[in-house]
Amino acid sequence: MTKAYAAQSAKSPLAPHSITRRDPKPADVQIDILYCGVCHSDLHQARDEWHDAAPTAYPCVPGHEIVGRVSKVGSGVTKFKAGDLAAVGCMVDSCRTCSSCQRGLENYCLSFPTFTYNGADKHSGGVTYGGYSDRIVVDEAFVLKVSEKANLAATAPLLCAGITTYSPMRHWGVTAGQKVGVVGLGGLGHMGVKFADAFGAQTVLFTTSPSKIDDGKRLGADEVVVSKNAAEMKAHAGSFDFILDCVSAEHDINSYLQLLKLDGTLCLVGAPEKPLPVAAFNMLLPRKQFAGSGIGGIAETQEMLDFCAAKGIASDVEVIPIQKINEAYDRLVKGDVKYRFVIDMASLK
Ligand code: NAP
Ligand code: ZN
Ligand code: ZN
Repeated sequence: MTKAYAAQSAKSPLAPHSITRRDPKPADVQIDILYCGVCHSDLHQARDEWHDAAPTAYPCVPGHEIVGRVSKVGSGVTKFKAGDLAAVGCMVDSCRTCSSCQRGLENYCLSFPTFTYNGADKHSGGVTYGGYSDRIVVDEAFVLKVSEKANLAATAPLLCAGITTYSPMRHWGVTAGQKVGVVGLGGLGHMGVKFADAFGAQTVLFTTSPSKIDDGKRLGADEVVVSKNAAEMKAHAGSFDFILDCVSAEHDINSYLQLLKLDGTLCLVGAPEKPLPVAAFNMLLPRKQFAGSGIGGIAETQEMLDFCAAKGIASDVEVIPIQKINEAYDRLVKGDVKYRFVIDMASLK
């Protein structure tokens, strides 16, 4: 049996629970989990906030920002051995044969990737259980390498918050000479600010929290705009090449569409519970794009981890024992996060 924390229903707090992990098959890596980041998606899923778009199967064991040490490998594993550091993000499998998988875009697998939690587990026939647990068993094709020099707690959030912000910035070619906005300074947003800054862009953070202005600048923003201030927003009208929207709740995206210049892109990575209405005229004059992006492929995730190791980039974390997970969720809802909660899995022992 593997110790875990699970939600038993949309309304119940997370609580101790036992799950079964398979014994490693030939291609599998068994990882003893050291740290697991707390993504707002964990909360959306545990509380069934995505409804029919991604209904939750209970019990639900969230967690997809996993760093640990390999404790066992299957007979066919070549990339890992017992004792190695290893990481797992949002996916544990995909079809591997479709056109997306062949392009290294397993996140856009045409048969749907197997997500790390609440996914259809090909091995057990049940659902996958995530990283709020002692250990996990994953096919080596979906296991990432972590540098021995890395701060492990601060590395865990890269597996979702990191790749989810890195991938669209790479795809839309964020670079020096561009003006780039990041909306919402939470787990994703603070990595977005770090990457936009690292890619050399003029970086502007939009926040609803005046208390985060100084942190926004320390994290790499050249300017911080309090989005509730209409005059401050208006001053940036028509000036952005790219804006990454990392907000977890209902908000007015029209006010950001108005900030794009000709052919600029507003990319949504936040996944709020309710639809976000778009006013047509905000899309027409000038011509612009409203886009979206979901996590990133395995090769790009490794590229991002290596980029972060080379540049000394990691997440700003508040490490918590797993017993504080419900309190952490309540704080996430209030935007009270600096800037990623990470569970020290030793607390589960
Ligand atoms: P988070 O740490 O809770 O940060 C969200 C931030 O959004 C908050 O810190 C706050 O920033 C801002 N915010 C919250 N409520 C708001 C409101 N009512 N109006 C305006 N701003 C508000 O969440 P996260 O883990 O970064 O995740 C953000 C979203 O991305 C979630 O919906 C999550 O499910 C989604 N997500 C998507 C992907 C993907 O692949 N596309 C991957 C991971 C997560 P300020 O205080 O600065 O305003
Ligand atoms: Zn996530
Ligand atoms: Zn596929």
